[in-house]
Amino acid sequence: MFENFNISPLLKEEEIKSRVAELGAELTEKFKDKKAIAICVLKGSIMFYSDLIREIKTDLVCEFLAVSSYGNSTKSTGEVKLTLDLNNPIEGRDVIIIEDIVDTGLTLNYLVNNLKSRNPKSLTTCSLLFKPDALKVECSIDHVGFKIPNDFVVGYGLDYQGHYRNLPYIGQVKSLN
Ligand code: 5GP
Repeated sequence: MFENFNISPLLKEEEIKSRVAELGAELTEKFKDKKAIAICVLKGSIMFYSDLIREIKTDLVCEFLAVSSYGNSTKSTGEVKLTLDLNNPIEGRDVIIIEDIVDTGLTLNYLVNNLKSRNPKSLTTCSLLFKPDALKVECSIDHVGFKIPNDFVVGYGLDYQGHYRNLPYIGQVKSLN
């Protein structure tokens, strides 16, 4: 699609599927007998979110929000903005934030602070991917799918300039044009 854009497979469809099932089992255990609110962080989390919530075998409600931090770049601008907010209050509720990837940690840190200020009963964070070597700010991720190297990745919801979200696997970008 892009010239000189080389994607090398990092996580296969089957690996993602089985790890998502494990995360779903952890969250089922944690939220059994509770009516949690599962928040999808658009757009990168769409695939992970839709697969994960089907593995959480307990009653929950779905909410969506969107943040922007990258623009069209592969590097974080460091500035996080809420571009779409939740439809309903979360006060007194058990909340799960479902993220695609934690890189610098700025986005998750921003979201946790923002949502905490709305007084939920509990706040659990879950991210499919985590790049420990890229972390710039303290941020606690309660459930992590995979720790990955500090390279830009695409696929399974993650994009480069809006493309590649529909790849069923996750690949490392080897060179950019
Ligand atoms: P952070 O604020 O932790 O630096 O970045 C979080 C957001 O940046 C993620 O939700 C994701 O949208 C984007 N991001 C971070 N690393 C990558 C990456 O390797 N590939 C893609 N496609 N997006 C990334």
